[in-house]
Parts: sequence; structure tokens; C-alpha cells
Amino acid sequence: MDRKIEADLLLRDSDYLDEDFELVEGKSILIKDGRIEGIDTAESLKEKYTWREELDGSGCVYMPGLVDSHMHTGQQLLRGRILDEMPMIWTRVMLPYESTLTPEKMGLSARMAAVEMIHAGTTGFIDAGSYFMEEAADVYARSGLRGALSYSTMDQEGLPASIAMDARTAVRKTDELYKEFHGQENIKVYYSLRSLISCSEDLILMAAERAAGNHTMLQAHMNEYPGEINFYMERKQLRPYEYLDRLGVLGPDFLGAHSLLLSESEISLLEERGVKVCHCPFSNCGKAAPRTPELLERGITVGLGTDGAAHGGLSLFQEMKIFRSVMNLTWGVPLAEPAVMPARTILAMATRGGQVCLGGEPEKDGRLLPGARADIIGIDKNRIYMAVYGHMANTVLESAGAGDVRDSLCAGKVLMRDYRIQTLDEEEIYREAVSWKNNFA
Ligand SMILES: [Zn+2]
Repeated sequence: MDRKIEADLLLRDSDYLDEDFELVEGKSILIKDGRIEGIDTAESLKEKYTWREELDGSGCVYMPGLVDSHMHTGQQLLRGRILDEMPMIWTRVMLPYESTLTPEKMGLSARMAAVEMIHAGTTGFIDAGSYFMEEAADVYARSGLRGALSYSTMDQEGLPASIAMDARTAVRKTDELYKEFHGQENIKVYYSLRSLISCSEDLILMAAERAAGNHTMLQAHMNEYPGEINFYMERKQLRPYEYLDRLGVLGPDFLGAHSLLLSESEISLLEERGVKVCHCPFSNCGKAAPRTPELLERGITVGLGTDGAAHGGLSLFQEMKIFRSVMNLTWGVPLAEPAVMPARTILAMATRGGQVCLGGEPEKDGRLLPGARADIIGIDKNRIYMAVYGHMANTVLESAGAGDVRDSLCAGKVLMRDYRIQTLDEEEIYREAVSWKNNFA
């Protein structure tokens, strides 16, 4: 008799959402070496495999883990401090706050963000860049989350002294982070142009060159404010994406966060160069509604992000609901087209869209399929609002929230089991956060 193949973990007897977000009932998901090895009944899998560990999947519907394609670890302690604030929030609140970050604040912020993300069903994230990122990298490597980290890169005149630096120093900071952490656990390091108008042309070119040399991505906040568009129109007679294209930095390894105010020619550039974008619905609602139906129609990869805890927390379930409402009001209602942004499309953006932004395989990762990254969450069906569902994907989008995520796995490792985080000490982190608030906030 042939020897059986040894696998790592079986999610036993569960329901799951397949690659079309259709509900499949009563199957087991087998995981080996961080990837999904097979999906079948436990009895059938037993014929070919043995496994070391089991997780009871009954009472759950499993789906791909969510990916927060744009967040700010460094703004975790600003929660609840910017709602209804007058503009410019970036210069009035964010920048002064970030200039006072310390290693201690960054470590605590990362621990709080990791706990919040795991509970919210987020298994992957892209941090847009801040300071003392090595503190965050240590925490995230321990958390088991999949993530891309960046150093905040700006060389604008007039920044607070604690964060002022020239282009060469700014890029060197990311080089150092890259050398130390890229490839450690599930961590990658991306280069980041913080806000484009805070970066000189030298800095943009240098960061792009280093990102390409290290075969990693370059990210930037893009086309978020009218002032930013006007800045480049006045100086270069070009819109922001046109300007970056002129510099030769656009390509499949460029991630443009927000990407709200896009012209026809910019959308064509995104399509032609294979640029990836990401929207942050709660945060974006103060600025503009993106042209997402058109972007998706053109085959552009779109992910969803939270823009950090200061903009409504780190729940992508919340972002997906807001996004659905904004898309329908903006693009669906004028055309009397209720399905302008179906639940399945939004779920695909938050899962496989994000995985592609994290370097995943477009046809595989972010799906529950053999060969895909085993980044999986289990939604608790033992809720009154999950007991009856017309279509499970619709019900997950409309009714499930961060508090309904029971299990979470990333690269096959169990991060949370029956609501208990396995990789970090949540009670201790909570006490630490309360103590920080009582003593410093
Ligand atoms: Zn941002």
C-alpha cells in the first residue's frame, strides 16, 4: 500500500465559500506547508493523507481572509480624534502626531493593530509607512499576520525636526528595514512615497529605483485631494499619475492608495501599466467616490483598505458595507442599476484583490482552492442573523461583522481559535493600552 502524505491541519466538517462565493456545505479543508492542499470530505481525504492537527469547523462558514490594502499602524492611538475635524487633517493632526512617535508608542500601536485585525478577520495588510517600523515588524512577525511594511518617506521642507530628512536618508531607512525584515515570517517591505507632494523628484526616482532593484513594490497616496491634482497641474501641466508615468515609475509593482480623482487618461495609464489601486471607503467619503466599476471593467486590480484605526477602525467588514452603499448611490442609482457593485465583487476586492497587492498569484490566492495561500477565516453561523440566508455571500456582506470571526489562519498557522488569539497575549495588550490612555493620552 502507498504511504499516505503527511499534511499539517484539517479544518473539519465545515461550510465554505468557493471561488464564486457560492456556499459549499459539509467539507473539510486540508492544509500543508502554508497552502491549501485539498478540499473534500474528511473520509475521502483520509484515503490519501494523514494530518497532525484538526480544528472543528462545524458551526462556521470559512472564507478567504480579508486583506487591508492600506492602513497606518502609527495612527492606532489617534482613534476617535479626527472625526468631524476641519481640514487639513494631515497637516493639523496626523503629521504633528507622527512627529512625536516613539519606539514604545509604535510597539504598542502594532500590538493593538494586530489584535484588532485578527479579530476582524483580516489576515493580511499593507502599512503605508511610518516611523520606528522595526518595532512594528517584530510584533507583526510574532502575530503570524501576512503584511507589507514601509518606512514613511518624505523630504519636503518644513517638516517637524524629528522627522525631517533628505531624500537619500529617507530611502536608506527603507533599505535598512528591507534588509532586516523582508522575507521574515510573512513580512515583506515595500517602498513608500508618503504623500506625493511631500516628495521631491529625486526622492521619487530613488525610491522607485530601490524598489525595482529589490523586486518589491512602491506605494503612494494618490489622487486623493483636488489640491494635490492642482499642485502637479500648475507645476508640470500633468495630473499626478501622468507625472509619475513621465518619470517612468508606473508598473505592476506600483500600488496607488485611494486613487479617487482620476481622469480618463489616468485610468488608461493604470490599465496599460498594470498599476494596482486600493480604496478606503470610510476615509474616502470625506473626499470623493472612486470610479470603481470602470476600473474593474478595465481589468485593474482593486483592493480595499481601512486607512488606519483613526479613520473608523480596522474592520474591513465595515468598509465593505460602506463601499457597497457609496457605489450604489454614486453609480447604481443614476443608472437604475441595483447590481452595480455586487456583494461577490466587493468580497473579491477585499480578499483576492488584496492578496494580489501582497504579491499573491492572481488566479489562486484569496480563494479557497488547492494551491492557494491558507489565509482563511471562519465566520460564526451561530448568530440569529446568520441562521437564515438567501445567499450566504450577501448575508456575510450585509450582516456579518468583526465580532463574528471565530477562527483565523494565515499561511496555515492558527492565529485565532474560537475567538481566542493564539499568537499574542490579548489581555496583556488590552491592559497596556488602557494604561497608556490613563497615563499619556
Ligand atoms: Zn493613508
